[in-house]
Amino acid sequence: MSVARRIVADIERASWIRRMFEEGRRLKAERGADKVFDFTLGNPEVEPPEPVLETLRRVVAGNRPHSHGYMPNAGFPAVRAAVARRLEKRTGLPYTAEHILMTCGAAGACNVLLKSVLDPGDEVIVLAPFFPEYRFYIENHGGRVVPVETTSEFQLDIARIAAAITPRTRAILLNSPNNPSGAVYPAEALAELNVMLARHPNVIVVSDEPYRALVFDGRTAPETAAIIERCAITDSWSKAAALAGERIGYLALSPRIAEWAVLRDAATFANRVLGFINASAIWQLTMSEAPEATIDVAAYQAKRDLVCGALAGMGYELTRPAGTFYVFPKTPIADDVAFIRLLQREGVLAVPGSGFSRPGHFRLSLTVPRGTIERSLPAFERARTAAR
Ligand code: PLP
Repeated sequence: MSVARRIVADIERASWIRRMFEEGRRLKAERGADKVFDFTLGNPEVEPPEPVLETLRRVVAGNRPHSHGYMPNAGFPAVRAAVARRLEKRTGLPYTAEHILMTCGAAGACNVLLKSVLDPGDEVIVLAPFFPEYRFYIENHGGRVVPVETTSEFQLDIARIAAAITPRTRAILLNSPNNPSGAVYPAEALAELNVMLARHPNVIVVSDEPYRALVFDGRTAPETAAIIERCAITDSWSKAAALAGERIGYLALSPRIAEWAVLRDAATFANRVLGFINASAIWQLTMSEAPEATIDVAAYQAKRDLVCGALAGMGYELTRPAGTFYVFPKTPIADDVAFIRLLQREGVLAVPGSGFSRPGHFRLSLTVPRGTIERSLPAFERARTAAR
Protein backbone atom coordinates (compact mmCIF):
# COMPACT_ATOMS: atom_id res chain seq x y z
CA MET A 1 0.00 0.00 0.00
CA SER A 2 1.29 3.47 -0.78
CA VAL A 3 0.82 6.54 1.37
CA ALA A 4 -0.23 9.99 0.24
CA ARG A 5 2.46 12.02 -1.56
CA ARG A 6 1.70 14.94 0.69
CA ILE A 7 2.43 13.03 3.89
CA VAL A 8 5.70 11.75 2.42
CA ALA A 9 6.72 15.33 1.65
CA ASP A 10 5.61 16.53 5.10
CA ILE A 11 7.55 13.80 6.88
CA GLU A 12 10.64 14.83 4.96
CA ARG A 13 10.12 18.50 5.88
CA ALA A 14 9.60 17.60 9.54
CA SER A 15 12.61 15.41 9.86
CA TRP A 16 15.08 17.53 11.87
CA ILE A 17 14.19 16.36 15.33
CA ARG A 18 13.73 12.77 14.20
CA ARG A 19 17.10 12.79 12.44
CA MET A 20 18.74 14.18 15.55
CA PHE A 21 17.03 11.52 17.64
CA GLU A 22 18.33 8.78 15.36
CA GLU A 23 21.77 10.33 15.31
CA GLY A 24 21.67 10.43 19.10
CA ARG A 25 20.88 6.73 19.31
CA ARG A 26 23.71 5.93 16.95
CA LEU A 27 26.18 8.11 18.87
CA LYS A 28 25.09 6.69 22.23
CA ALA A 29 25.60 3.14 20.97
CA GLU A 30 29.00 4.08 19.54
CA ARG A 31 30.43 6.22 22.37
CA GLY A 32 28.36 5.35 25.45
CA ALA A 33 25.30 7.28 26.68
CA ASP A 34 27.32 9.39 29.15
CA LYS A 35 29.38 10.87 26.32
CA VAL A 36 26.40 12.14 24.33
CA PHE A 37 24.56 15.31 25.32
CA ASP A 38 21.08 15.39 23.86
CA PHE A 39 19.49 18.86 23.88
CA THR A 40 16.90 18.19 21.20
CA LEU A 41 13.59 17.32 22.83
CA GLY A 42 11.32 19.77 24.67
CA ASN A 43 9.96 17.11 27.00
CA PRO A 44 10.16 18.06 30.70
CA GLU A 45 12.58 15.65 32.39
CA VAL A 46 11.04 16.24 35.81
CA GLU A 47 8.01 14.52 37.34
CA PRO A 48 4.69 16.38 37.61
CA PRO A 49 4.32 18.47 40.81
CA GLU A 50 3.19 16.43 43.82
CA PRO A 51 -0.15 18.34 44.19
CA VAL A 52 -1.07 17.16 40.67
CA LEU A 53 -0.28 13.53 41.45
CA GLU A 54 -2.08 13.76 44.77
CA THR A 55 -5.18 15.20 43.08
CA LEU A 56 -5.01 12.49 40.42
CA ARG A 57 -4.94 9.76 43.10
CA ARG A 58 -7.91 11.38 44.87
CA VAL A 59 -9.91 11.73 41.64
CA VAL A 60 -9.27 8.10 40.68
CA ALA A 61 -10.06 6.83 44.19
CA GLY A 62 -13.23 8.95 44.25
CA ASN A 63 -14.54 6.95 41.30
CA ARG A 64 -17.33 9.43 40.58
CA PRO A 65 -20.24 8.02 38.55
CA HIS A 66 -19.87 8.60 34.80
CA SER A 67 -16.33 9.88 35.08
CA HIS A 68 -15.10 7.54 32.33
CA GLY A 69 -17.76 8.03 29.67
CA TYR A 70 -18.42 10.38 26.81
CA MET A 71 -19.37 13.88 27.82
CA PRO A 72 -20.37 17.04 25.93
CA ASN A 73 -17.66 17.39 23.24
CA ALA A 74 -16.48 20.67 24.75
CA GLY A 75 -15.66 18.92 28.04
CA PHE A 76 -17.19 18.63 31.53
CA PRO A 77 -19.21 21.82 32.15
CA ALA A 78 -17.90 22.14 35.73
CA VAL A 79 -14.29 21.82 34.53
CA ARG A 80 -14.85 24.44 31.83
CA ALA A 81 -16.39 26.73 34.46
CA ALA A 82 -13.30 26.27 36.65
CA VAL A 83 -10.99 27.16 33.73
CA ALA A 84 -13.19 30.20 32.98
CA ARG A 85 -12.99 31.42 36.59
CA ARG A 86 -9.22 31.15 36.49
CA LEU A 87 -9.06 33.14 33.23
CA GLU A 88 -11.52 35.72 34.50
CA LYS A 89 -9.31 36.28 37.51
CA ARG A 90 -6.20 36.62 35.38
CA THR A 91 -7.60 38.83 32.60
CA GLY A 92 -10.58 40.62 34.14
CA LEU A 93 -12.69 39.43 31.18
CA PRO A 94 -16.10 37.79 31.72
CA TYR A 95 -15.16 34.25 30.61
CA THR A 96 -17.78 31.59 31.31
CA ALA A 97 -17.80 27.82 30.73
CA GLU A 98 -19.30 28.57 27.30
CA HIS A 99 -16.05 30.22 26.14
CA ILE A 100 -13.94 27.19 27.04
CA LEU A 101 -13.35 23.93 25.19
CA MET A 102 -11.21 21.24 26.81
CA THR A 103 -8.76 19.80 24.28
CA CYS A 104 -6.03 17.23 23.77
CA GLY A 105 -3.20 19.62 24.61
CA ALA A 106 -2.42 22.98 23.04
CA ALA A 107 -1.78 21.14 19.77
CA GLY A 108 -5.35 19.85 19.82
CA ALA A 109 -6.61 23.35 20.62
CA CYS A 110 -4.65 24.88 17.69
CA ASN A 111 -5.99 22.30 15.27
CA VAL A 112 -9.56 22.73 16.48
CA LEU A 113 -9.38 26.52 16.17
CA LEU A 114 -7.72 26.45 12.75
CA LYS A 115 -10.23 23.94 11.42
CA SER A 116 -12.97 26.24 12.68
CA VAL A 117 -11.77 29.37 10.89
CA LEU A 118 -9.92 28.33 7.73
CA ASP A 119 -11.31 27.90 4.26
CA PRO A 120 -8.94 26.51 1.61
CA GLY A 121 -6.32 29.13 0.70
CA ASP A 122 -6.90 31.28 3.79
CA GLU A 123 -3.71 32.63 5.28
CA VAL A 124 -2.24 32.35 8.74
CA ILE A 125 0.67 34.55 9.80
CA VAL A 126 3.31 32.87 11.93
CA LEU A 127 6.24 34.71 13.47
CA ALA A 128 9.67 33.29 12.72
CA PRO A 129 11.32 31.60 14.42
CA PHE A 130 8.34 29.33 15.13
CA PHE A 131 7.39 25.87 16.37
CA PRO A 132 7.66 23.82 13.15
CA GLU A 133 4.43 21.90 13.78
CA TYR A 134 2.44 25.12 13.16
CA ARG A 135 3.04 24.68 9.44
CA PHE A 136 1.39 21.27 9.50
CA TYR A 137 -1.46 22.36 11.77
CA ILE A 138 -2.28 25.17 9.32
CA GLU A 139 -1.93 22.99 6.23
CA ASN A 140 -4.02 20.25 7.87
CA HIS A 141 -7.00 22.56 7.36
CA GLY A 142 -6.20 23.92 3.92
CA GLY A 143 -4.53 27.08 5.21
CA ARG A 144 -1.49 28.81 3.79
CA VAL A 145 1.44 29.62 6.07
CA VAL A 146 2.73 33.19 5.87
CA PRO A 147 5.96 33.48 7.86
CA VAL A 148 6.88 36.95 9.12
CA GLU A 149 10.26 37.66 10.69
CA THR A 150 10.55 38.94 14.24
CA THR A 151 13.38 41.31 15.18
CA SER A 152 16.95 40.16 15.83
CA GLU A 153 15.92 39.79 19.47
CA PHE A 154 12.83 37.78 18.44
CA GLN A 155 10.35 40.55 19.28
CA LEU A 156 7.24 41.58 17.33
CA ASP A 157 7.78 43.73 14.26
CA ILE A 158 4.33 45.29 13.90
CA ALA A 159 5.07 47.00 10.57
CA ARG A 160 6.14 43.70 9.05
CA ILE A 161 3.04 41.94 10.37
CA ALA A 162 0.82 44.73 9.03
CA ALA A 163 2.48 44.47 5.62
CA ALA A 164 1.81 40.71 5.49
CA ILE A 165 -1.94 40.99 6.09
CA THR A 166 -4.10 40.43 3.01
CA PRO A 167 -7.85 40.00 2.53
CA ARG A 168 -7.22 36.23 2.94
CA THR A 169 -5.57 36.53 6.38
CA ARG A 170 -7.68 34.78 8.99
CA ALA A 171 -5.31 34.37 11.91
CA ILE A 172 -2.00 35.36 13.45
CA LEU A 173 -0.34 32.69 15.57
CA LEU A 174 1.50 34.21 18.53
CA ASN A 175 3.57 32.10 20.86
CA SER A 176 4.84 33.87 23.97
CA PRO A 177 6.88 32.67 25.84
CA ASN A 178 8.28 31.47 22.57
CA ASN A 179 9.58 28.13 21.38
CA PRO A 180 12.42 28.23 20.27
CA SER A 181 13.64 31.72 21.26
CA GLY A 182 12.36 32.00 24.84
CA ALA A 183 11.17 35.55 24.01
CA VAL A 184 8.23 37.00 25.92
CA TYR A 185 6.28 39.75 24.14
CA PRO A 186 5.82 42.82 26.34
CA ALA A 187 2.36 44.31 26.94
CA GLU A 188 3.23 47.46 24.95
CA ALA A 189 4.01 45.47 21.80
CA LEU A 190 0.80 43.46 22.18
CA ALA A 191 -1.14 46.72 22.61
CA GLU A 192 0.42 48.08 19.43
CA LEU A 193 -0.57 44.91 17.60
CA ASN A 194 -4.12 45.28 18.89
CA VAL A 195 -4.33 48.86 17.58
CA MET A 196 -3.08 47.74 14.17
CA LEU A 197 -5.56 44.85 14.08
CA ALA A 198 -8.53 47.18 14.62
CA ARG A 199 -8.29 47.74 10.84
CA HIS A 200 -8.62 43.97 10.23
CA PRO A 201 -11.78 42.66 11.89
CA ASN A 202 -11.55 39.30 10.11
CA VAL A 203 -8.25 38.42 11.73
CA ILE A 204 -8.14 36.49 14.97
CA VAL A 205 -5.03 36.18 17.15
CA VAL A 206 -4.29 32.68 18.37
CA SER A 207 -2.22 33.04 21.52
CA ASP A 208 -0.48 29.70 21.99
CA GLU A 209 0.59 29.72 25.63
CA PRO A 210 1.80 26.32 26.85
CA TYR A 211 4.94 27.97 28.31
CA ARG A 212 3.06 30.78 30.11
CA ALA A 213 4.05 29.59 33.58
CA LEU A 214 7.72 29.22 32.65
CA VAL A 215 9.00 32.79 32.93
CA PHE A 216 12.07 33.93 34.79
CA ASP A 217 13.44 36.71 36.98
CA GLY A 218 10.20 37.10 38.94
CA ARG A 219 8.24 38.32 35.92
CA THR A 220 4.86 37.15 34.63
CA ALA A 221 4.00 36.96 30.95
CA PRO A 222 1.49 39.66 29.91
CA GLU A 223 -2.06 38.41 29.39
CA THR A 224 -2.48 38.52 25.62
CA ALA A 225 -6.25 38.06 25.86
CA ALA A 226 -6.54 41.06 28.18
CA ILE A 227 -4.79 43.22 25.59
CA ILE A 228 -5.83 41.83 22.21
CA GLU A 229 -9.50 42.02 21.51
CA ARG A 230 -9.98 39.16 19.08
CA CYS A 231 -7.95 36.54 20.90
CA ALA A 232 -8.25 32.78 21.28
CA ILE A 233 -5.94 31.19 23.84
CA THR A 234 -4.57 27.71 23.23
CA ASP A 235 -3.00 26.34 26.38
CA SER A 236 -2.10 23.12 28.15
CA TRP A 237 -0.41 21.64 31.19
CA SER A 238 2.14 19.77 29.04
CA LYS A 239 5.07 21.97 29.98
CA ALA A 240 3.86 23.85 33.07
CA ALA A 241 2.99 20.65 34.96
CA ALA A 242 5.14 18.17 32.98
CA LEU A 243 2.05 16.36 31.67
CA ALA A 244 2.89 16.29 27.96
CA GLY A 245 1.87 12.64 27.61
CA GLU A 246 -1.54 13.15 29.21
CA ARG A 247 -2.80 15.43 26.44
CA ILE A 248 -4.72 17.91 28.53
CA GLY A 249 -5.29 21.51 27.49
CA TYR A 250 -7.98 23.94 26.42
CA LEU A 251 -9.10 26.54 23.93
CA ALA A 252 -10.48 29.78 25.39
CA LEU A 253 -12.41 32.14 23.12
CA SER A 254 -12.34 35.72 24.30
CA PRO A 255 -15.76 37.05 25.33
CA ARG A 256 -14.76 40.14 23.32
CA ILE A 257 -14.92 38.23 20.02
CA ALA A 258 -18.33 39.29 18.70
CA GLU A 259 -19.04 35.92 17.07
CA TRP A 260 -17.59 33.78 19.88
CA ALA A 261 -20.71 31.61 20.19
CA VAL A 262 -20.63 30.62 16.49
CA LEU A 263 -16.93 29.94 16.84
CA ARG A 264 -17.58 27.87 19.97
CA ASP A 265 -20.08 25.70 18.05
CA ALA A 266 -17.60 25.26 15.20
CA ALA A 267 -14.78 24.37 17.59
CA THR A 268 -16.93 21.88 19.48
CA PHE A 269 -17.79 20.17 16.20
CA ALA A 270 -14.13 20.25 15.11
CA ASN A 271 -13.07 18.63 18.39
CA ARG A 272 -15.46 15.80 17.60
CA VAL A 273 -14.67 15.22 13.95
CA LEU A 274 -10.92 15.51 14.35
CA GLY A 275 -11.35 12.38 16.43
CA PHE A 276 -10.41 13.89 19.77
CA ILE A 277 -14.12 13.63 20.81
CA ASN A 278 -13.22 15.06 24.20
CA ALA A 279 -10.08 15.63 26.24
CA SER A 280 -9.11 12.93 28.75
CA ALA A 281 -11.87 12.78 31.36
CA ILE A 282 -9.67 11.93 34.35
CA TRP A 283 -7.21 14.68 33.49
CA GLN A 284 -9.96 17.26 33.05
CA LEU A 285 -11.20 16.46 36.55
CA THR A 286 -7.67 16.49 37.95
CA MET A 287 -6.44 19.72 36.41
CA SER A 288 -9.59 21.63 37.26
CA GLU A 289 -8.60 21.02 40.89
CA ALA A 290 -4.85 21.63 40.58
CA PRO A 291 -4.55 24.17 37.76
CA GLU A 292 -1.75 26.26 39.21
CA ALA A 293 0.68 23.50 40.18
CA THR A 294 3.85 24.18 38.23
CA ILE A 295 7.23 22.51 37.89
CA ASP A 296 10.23 24.17 39.50
CA VAL A 297 10.80 27.27 37.34
CA ALA A 298 13.81 28.30 39.44
CA ALA A 299 15.66 25.16 38.31
CA TYR A 300 15.14 26.09 34.63
CA GLN A 301 16.17 29.68 35.33
CA ALA A 302 19.38 28.40 36.94
CA LYS A 303 20.04 26.17 33.90
CA ARG A 304 19.39 29.12 31.57
CA ASP A 305 21.88 31.20 33.56
CA LEU A 306 24.45 28.43 33.45
CA VAL A 307 24.17 27.86 29.69
CA CYS A 308 23.88 31.51 28.69
CA GLY A 309 26.77 32.54 30.92
CA ALA A 310 29.01 29.74 29.71
CA LEU A 311 28.21 30.11 26.01
CA ALA A 312 28.53 33.91 26.08
CA GLY A 313 31.88 33.47 27.84
CA MET A 314 33.04 31.28 24.94
CA GLY A 315 32.02 33.99 22.45
CA TYR A 316 28.62 32.68 21.33
CA GLU A 317 26.13 35.46 20.61
CA LEU A 318 22.73 35.00 22.18
CA THR A 319 19.64 36.77 23.46
CA ARG A 320 18.89 35.65 27.01
CA PRO A 321 15.53 33.89 27.03
CA ALA A 322 12.95 35.46 29.35
CA GLY A 323 11.06 32.17 29.63
CA THR A 324 10.56 28.56 28.42
CA PHE A 325 13.28 25.94 28.76
CA TYR A 326 14.99 26.72 25.46
CA VAL A 327 18.06 28.72 24.50
CA PHE A 328 18.49 29.84 20.89
CA PRO A 329 22.04 31.13 20.30
CA LYS A 330 23.52 32.23 16.99
CA THR A 331 25.73 29.71 15.27
CA PRO A 332 29.31 30.99 14.95
CA ILE A 333 29.11 30.29 11.20
CA ALA A 334 26.19 31.23 8.98
CA ASP A 335 25.46 27.63 7.97
CA ASP A 336 23.57 26.32 11.01
CA VAL A 337 23.30 22.79 9.64
CA ALA A 338 27.08 22.62 9.19
CA PHE A 339 27.53 23.86 12.75
CA ILE A 340 25.10 21.26 14.08
CA ARG A 341 27.36 18.64 12.50
CA LEU A 342 30.36 20.10 14.33
CA LEU A 343 28.43 19.94 17.60
CA GLN A 344 27.44 16.37 16.80
CA ARG A 345 31.07 15.42 16.28
CA GLU A 346 31.65 16.62 19.84
CA GLY A 347 28.72 14.57 21.13
CA VAL A 348 26.19 17.43 21.39
CA LEU A 349 22.79 17.09 19.77
CA ALA A 350 20.87 20.28 19.02
CA VAL A 351 18.29 21.41 16.46
CA PRO A 352 19.33 23.84 13.71
CA GLY A 353 17.52 27.17 13.51
CA SER A 354 16.48 26.27 9.95
CA GLY A 355 14.04 23.81 11.53
CA PHE A 356 12.31 26.83 13.10
CA SER A 357 12.60 29.02 9.98
CA ARG A 358 15.43 31.11 11.47
CA PRO A 359 18.72 29.86 10.05
CA GLY A 360 22.00 30.90 11.66
CA HIS A 361 20.87 29.72 15.09
CA PHE A 362 20.56 26.51 17.05
CA ARG A 363 18.10 25.44 19.73
CA LEU A 364 19.05 23.77 22.98
CA SER A 365 16.34 22.32 25.19
CA LEU A 366 17.35 22.50 28.84
CA THR A 367 15.15 19.56 29.81
CA VAL A 368 18.23 17.61 30.87
CA PRO A 369 19.84 17.28 34.29
CA ARG A 370 22.12 20.16 35.29
CA GLY A 371 25.05 17.76 35.46
CA THR A 372 24.59 16.92 31.77
CA ILE A 373 24.85 20.62 30.92
CA GLU A 374 27.97 21.02 33.04
CA ARG A 375 29.67 18.03 31.45
CA SER A 376 28.73 19.19 27.95
CA LEU A 377 30.28 22.66 28.13
CA PRO A 378 33.79 21.76 26.88
CA ALA A 379 32.16 20.24 23.78
CA PHE A 380 30.55 23.62 22.94
CA GLU A 381 33.94 25.26 23.29
CA ARG A 382 35.56 22.69 20.97
CA ALA A 383 32.80 23.04 18.36
CA ARG A 384 33.20 26.81 18.37
CA THR A 385 36.94 26.51 17.91
CA ALA A 386 36.45 24.02 15.08
CA ALA A 387 34.06 26.45 13.36
CA ARG A 388 36.69 29.18 13.11
N1 PLP B 1 2.87 24.96 20.99
C1 PLP B 1 4.20 25.05 21.17
C2 PLP B 1 4.86 26.34 20.91
C3 PLP B 1 4.95 23.94 21.58
O1 PLP B 1 6.27 24.04 21.75
C4 PLP B 1 4.28 22.72 21.80
C5 PLP B 1 5.02 21.50 22.17
O2 PLP B 1 6.22 21.43 22.17
C6 PLP B 1 2.89 22.67 21.59
C7 PLP B 1 2.22 23.80 21.18
C8 PLP B 1 2.12 21.42 21.80
O3 PLP B 1 1.85 21.31 23.16
P1 PLP B 1 0.81 20.25 23.74
O4 PLP B 1 1.60 19.12 24.30
O5 PLP B 1 0.10 21.02 24.80
O6 PLP B 1 -0.09 19.85 22.66
